[in-house]
Amino acid sequence: MPVYKAPLRDQQFVIHELLGAVEALRALPRYAELDAGTVNQVLEEAGRFSEEVLLPLNRSGDEEGCTYDPATRAVRTPAGFVAAFEKFREAGWQGLTAEDEFGGQALPQLLQIAFDEMRCATNQAWTMYSGLTLGAYECLAHTASAAQKALYLPKLASAEWTGTMCLTESHCGTDLGLLRTKAVPQADGSYRITGSKIFISAGEHDFAGNIVHLVLARLPDAPAGTRGISLFIVPKFLPEGSGAQARAGARNGVYCGGIEHKMGIHGNSTCQMVFEDATGWLVGEPNKGLHAMFVMMNGARLGVGVQGLGLTEAAYQNAVAYARERVQGRSLTGPKAPEQAADPIIVHADVRRMLLTARAYAEGGRAFAYWIAVMADQQVHHPDEAQRRFAGDMMALMTPIVKAFLTDNGFFRSSECLQVFGGHGYIREWGMEQLLRDSRINMIYEGTNTIQSLDLLGRKVLSDSGARLTSFGKLVEAFVAEHGTDEDMNEFVTPLADLGDKVRKLTMEIGMKALGNQDEAGAAAVDYLRVVGHLVFAYFWARMAQVALARIAADGARVDAFYPRKLATARFYFQRLLPETAYHIRAARSGAKNLMEFHTDWF
Ligand SMILES: Cc1cc2nc3c(=O)[nH]c(=O)nc-3n(C[C@H](O)[C@H](O)[C@H](O)COP(=O)(O)OP(=O)(O)OC[C@H]3O[C@@H](n4cnc5c(N)ncnc54)[C@H](O)[C@@H]3O)c2cc1C
Repeated sequence: MPVYKAPLRDQQFVIHELLGAVEALRALPRYAELDAGTVNQVLEEAGRFSEEVLLPLNRSGDEEGCTYDPATRAVRTPAGFVAAFEKFREAGWQGLTAEDEFGGQALPQLLQIAFDEMRCATNQAWTMYSGLTLGAYECLAHTASAAQKALYLPKLASAEWTGTMCLTESHCGTDLGLLRTKAVPQADGSYRITGSKIFISAGEHDFAGNIVHLVLARLPDAPAGTRGISLFIVPKFLPEGSGAQARAGARNGVYCGGIEHKMGIHGNSTCQMVFEDATGWLVGEPNKGLHAMFVMMNGARLGVGVQGLGLTEAAYQNAVAYARERVQGRSLTGPKAPEQAADPIIVHADVRRMLLTARAYAEGGRAFAYWIAVMADQQVHHPDEAQRRFAGDMMALMTPIVKAFLTDNGFFRSSECLQVFGGHGYIREWGMEQLLRDSRINMIYEGTNTIQSLDLLGRKVLSDSGARLTSFGKLVEAFVAEHGTDEDMNEFVTPLADLGDKVRKLTMEIGMKALGNQDEAGAAAVDYLRVVGHLVFAYFWARMAQVALARIAADGARVDAFYPRKLATARFYFQRLLPETAYHIRAARSGAKNLMEFHTDWF
């Protein structure tokens, strides 16, 4: 059976020792009262919920999946999912970061991200129902009118109602400018929504008394393309009454027309949604819907990156447990378990390579994602405008990297950790093939990882002539300047500084080439994201190595084994994983010609 233990020790290391996150957050008036004890307590409770409530439902949820009843157009989720959601709702988890005026706990984003990591590690399919609800809350909190907020936010923060995002149509996924769903204004200020959406996660289910669909549609006089898209609230049941007292009333004209049978996340309903003159209400300004939806999409992109992180950790933990138990062959340097017929496979160098790869990507990803969570709060709540701007720049620059780098890692590490099981990984019993199947979608939805790469290179780097990247580069340079003369840090600082230099040159080279031919950017983007992702990871791994070295020096022989372990993982990262950048830089520099000279009809 799959195993999982909340990685509390490492989470606390990142939060308290690496990032000094509680101090950083206390500088924000909103969190002036925050203390380390509260943070640790929430982490422990969240870990317990993930281990005890979600993990036991992961396998059964995958095997049973969701079922659709065409007669009632209802969706039933796997056994145990609803009861788990009730526990989650009663404990107030949905409103962890929501404003207190809407019934939330107003805690930092950091705790949400840490919880998301653990609940995705234990049950991604289940977690998505509340993940979409959180996204809908954030979108409405940002864009909706005061009356809409008063009506919907308390229901979403308490998970009495859940949310969805309805963008995709059968002919338009990446290119939302093609969407056709129509919204016709009515005399009473509402709109009639007509059209079909596909692939809508959590579009229909049995978790909640109402489902609040956030729908992109076109007004009759809307301009073509993305400039003519508006955002609407379309609830499954029309609210009766106003404010927090509202109840779910008459059935609206929005139905689930069927669910998809898919590769993974079977416990999450992926719905075709039909809107038949459904009543909806405009959110924000007409034709500015895509902009409003970007609040939800950016939050969801970070959330999907964290799904990748959670699955990397889950795959790692299971592979380590197996590698300690499974005995095959002897160590090349002589038996390590002579009392047994063979040694545990964890003695073999290549098994260790696979385990350490997953470990290094999980721990590096945790440091990166938790830092971004602090930036998310600083961007909105920091009293200093310059720090708000810096945090906003980091959020913009890093969102596509969190999404694509962490989800690529989630899938490829799940695959390698499955390999540790040999043939036993390929069969169902151990749960590894489910992790691999579940992790695959993370590279696709919320904008494919190719689209994230184009966003990074085109919109986040080249469009501001590298200003945001330079801001991050200054953090790297400051770290290099501070620790560059420390001999023990040389093995980390030198390759970090070198990569920073190479990224600068690569960016300029691609930028120059793209001026003459935009395909140059398209051809380089995926390799470029991988290189910049490594720059970010190298920065955090160097910082983690520095904290570990300081503790080892201070505590001597009495040092907690956690720190030598961290240092050894840092060394593995720098020596075995970072060199991947050489390949990607070379591939990115090879240009567009080797792709574009191949005529389309030669394929
Ligand atoms: C399980 C699941 C759940 C989902 N949940 C939701 C949801 O809740 N709400 C929702 O609205 N949608 C949802 N989606 C839809 C998802 O976001 C889209 O599938 C995704 O954005 C890609 O769109 P597409 O499938 O139409 O692929 P396409 O856009 O047709 O892309 C096909 C391929 O072409 C590439 N490509 C496309 N355009 C470009 C370009 N300009 N440059 C380079 N390459 C390009 C893509 O990267 C991809 O590899 C979900 C999908 C799935 C499978």
